[in-house]
Formats: sequence, C-alpha cells, structure tokens
Amino acid sequence: MKILWKSHPTNPAKNGTTEHVARELAVVAVGYGQAELIRFANAGERLKSLSEECAIAQPPAHTDWTVNAGSASGEVYILGRCSNPTCGQIRYSGPPQPFNTLATHGQKSRVFDPSVEITLCHACGKGAEKIPADILKKYAAAKASETQTYTPDYAGMLAMQAHVGGDNKHREIDGPRK
Ligand SMILES: [Zn+2]
Repeated sequence: MKILWKSHPTNPAKNGTTEHVARELAVVAVGYGQAELIRFANAGERLKSLSEECAIAQPPAHTDWTVNAGSASGEVYILGRCSNPTCGQIRYSGPPQPFNTLATHGQKSRVFDPSVEITLCHACGKGAEKIPADILKKYAAAKASETQTYTPDYAGMLAMQAHVGGDNKHREIDGPRK
C-alpha cells in the first residue's frame, strides 16, 4: 500500500514523502496518525502504483546455463533455466555444431544451427534467449567425451538394429505387438 509519511517514528527525513509498504505497516502507521493512506484518483493510478510495488518486490531475473551429464544415462546436455519460475526452460542434447537434418514428413533436409535456433523463451521480459557461445563451446567439449550407459534391454535393441544379415540389410524393428 502507498502511504504519505507525516510523522515517521524513527526517520523524520521521510516526512512528506510517499512509500510503498506492507498492508500491516500501513494500518499501524495510519492508526497512530504517523501517515496518511494514499487514495488513487482512478483505477489507472492504482494499477500504476501496484506495478511499481511489484517492480520493487521482484529481483531481476537471470538465466542459469549449465552443461550436465545424466546420472543414469551419462547423456551430456545443456540446461537453460530462468530464475523466474514462469519462464520456460530448455534441455538440449543434440549436436553442438550446425548439422543437416534428415528429410522427413515431406520436409527436405536443411541445416539446423543450434546456436541460432535453440532459444529459451522468457516470460520475464527478456524475450527469446539463445544459448551463450561459451556454454555451447563447453558443451561441445563435454559432448566429445560423452559416455552413454544403456540398460541391457536398450543395448540389446541397439545391437539388433545395427545387425546386418546375409542380405546386407538392417533388421526391421516392429513396434509393440497389439
Ligand atoms: Zn526469464
């Protein structure tokens, strides 16, 4: 709430100035006649004051960019998270350098550049943020020495997929049987 100090209990320098304070303090200060409640001329004024109050209460948001390895799989990935919980977050584990995508679903192969196309979308006013160059560099180094660990089932499936038979063709893998 916004109050006008008339007789501040400890800091006379604040007399004659306005301040946003918690409702509890406003009630007490006004009750003792130390301050006056500021009433707003219209809804617009009130909203403006409220947004000033929120701007004071919230520290500026910052993004944490980290390079990690999954504890179970060993997969190396980039995680981008904003300190503002309503912002999005991204997890990227693809190639660090630009690469050619596979032609699929009627789309032609094209060059995909993760340094441009992977973005963290903020709701805090920072817009779309790209992966910082130093994180991408760190990720590329970590990815080069990545060691992935598979469960026995998954390792068996990969071995089956990679197997080339007498007809020189990879084996087809069916989906789950119905
Ligand atoms: Zn954000």
